[in-house]
Amino acid sequence: MTLKLIAINAYAKKHIKNNPGDKIHDVKETVKDAVKRQKDGASCAVCGQPIWALGSAFSGFDGCFTCITGESDDSADYEVY
Ligand SMILES: [Zn+2]
Repeated sequence: MTLKLIAINAYAKKHIKNNPGDKIHDVKETVKDAVKRQKDGASCAVCGQPIWALGSAFSGFDGCFTCITGESDDSADYEVY
């Protein structure tokens, strides 16, 4: 797993730049919820691996990177802390 770590606040700013219609407060809350589920030990709904918090926040289900994106190259993506 080579996801780049990014702080929630920094991610939220990026997200708003790419999705100007979203509210930064909502983005932070959504991501925080997913991080909390990850810390609580949530596992991927498909394969049972630990979840990718950032992806799970916006994909509509808790999943690992591979199951959410269907890709094996995760070098361009982020995970929050
Ligand atoms: Zn999975």
